Amino acid sequence: MENPKRIAVIGTGYVGLVAGACFADWGHRVTCVDLDAGRIDLLNRGGIPIYEPGLAEVVERAVKAGNLSFTTKVADAVAGCDAAYIAVGTPPSKTDGEADLSFVFECARQIARVIRPGAVIVTKSTVPVGTGDIVERIVEDARPGEHIPVVSNPEFLREGSAINDFTNPDRVVIGTEDEGAKATLLAIYQPLKARGHAVVVTRRRSAELIKYASNAFLAAKITFINEMADLCEAVEADVADIALGVGLDSRIGPHFLHAGPGYGGSCFPKDTLALIRTAQEHGVSLRIVEETVQANSARKRRMAMKVRHVLHGNVEGKKIAILGLTFKADTDDMRDSPAIPMIELLQRSGAEIHAYDPQGEANAKTLFEDVTFHEDPYGCAAQADAVVFMTDWEVLKHLDLARLASIMESPVMIDLRRIYPPEAAARQGFVVETIGRLGSE
Ligand code: NAD
Repeated sequence: MENPKRIAVIGTGYVGLVAGACFADWGHRVTCVDLDAGRIDLLNRGGIPIYEPGLAEVVERAVKAGNLSFTTKVADAVAGCDAAYIAVGTPPSKTDGEADLSFVFECARQIARVIRPGAVIVTKSTVPVGTGDIVERIVEDARPGEHIPVVSNPEFLREGSAINDFTNPDRVVIGTEDEGAKATLLAIYQPLKARGHAVVVTRRRSAELIKYASNAFLAAKITFINEMADLCEAVEADVADIALGVGLDSRIGPHFLHAGPGYGGSCFPKDTLALIRTAQEHGVSLRIVEETVQANSARKRRMAMKVRHVLHGNVEGKKIAILGLTFKADTDDMRDSPAIPMIELLQRSGAEIHAYDPQGEANAKTLFEDVTFHEDPYGCAAQADAVVFMTDWEVLKHLDLARLASIMESPVMIDLRRIYPPEAAARQGFVVETIGRLGSE
């Protein structure tokens, strides 16, 4: 690479580790930092702390090339770097949905102590509009009289396809009003620009808001098709046909039109809430986003009602097998997964919960009590009164339905991901409840 940069990435989660590994794979010199010593230890031994397809290969390649290393010491990584990336979590605060920025600010303080003049601080974490100004003040307090630019460079990758998303993004957004910082960021992303990917440079505040606007729009799009699914169930239409017919309109597009149990994950729920809080603070009402949040929470709760309905209104003492726990396939992330309210509500109604997930079990175990976990879907469904498909993992798309039906107490399927055509499942003896169309009855 012509102009490699020295980059420190603070936070080695889904975003920090992917960004750090990909930057290093492009030829930059990257040091990834985390305060979790166990995580860094694992990375230094060649392990990967999260499940993300393809990540291990990129990390291994970059480490072998001598471009990627790991440490717990912010100072070691930041001193001498050209860009210090903040990629720590910004979870919702316990009380009101506002983003908790304490990790970001702590990170900024640590970076400010050691960063060299001429280097830039880059916020990759999703932070409310105006956060860059606060980070800048933190840095100015620590380094009076020095100008260290703070750039917003929000991330749009999706868990499960993070490597491809990071290396083939629809766009890179760089928010800065500082020419020097802009040049550094453009140099970092030169490999993408060279391959024709769009690089959008905006004011810092606009960049911060682009991230929230994107996520809120996508959350609204999912919620829209979910509401259409409800209507389809009532009028005997099929939401898959609606999605196809609507999505072929190039003004709308086919993506994010898959009806399901409601959006979850580490981003949409918290980012929509944080955006609403930002708007409230500025006296602006975001009615579509507010409705989206409410409709989605109600939907997640209503999914448990579907299970009760198909079991004739009573799940007391019933054994329910939950197949798939993570908020989507190809991740081990359980944050805000629709499986959480599903399991909690069924347990509250007296159901006995058994669960299977190919990657999410370790994280799920920290969330639930009295759930029996299984190594495979059939073991999970044995003697069950109903199976509920929560996540469309590839392995769950190829089950032997005849075998599944034969080992259950009563072959009842609640397919919240529309994995199996109800007719096909009914032919194997299942009673089927699905989404966005009539079931088998
Ligand atoms: P994560 O929770 O997986 O990882 C955060 C990491 O930061 C943890 O390993 C934690 O130990 C570490 N950390 C926290 N404070 C630290 C400090 N002071 N010094 C060093 N390490 C510290 O988070 P994530 O999912 O990677 O998300 C990070 C940010 O990116 C969030 O703002 C999120 O909204 C945003 N984002 C996430 C995704 C996604 O799909 N996960 C996509 C786009 C944007």
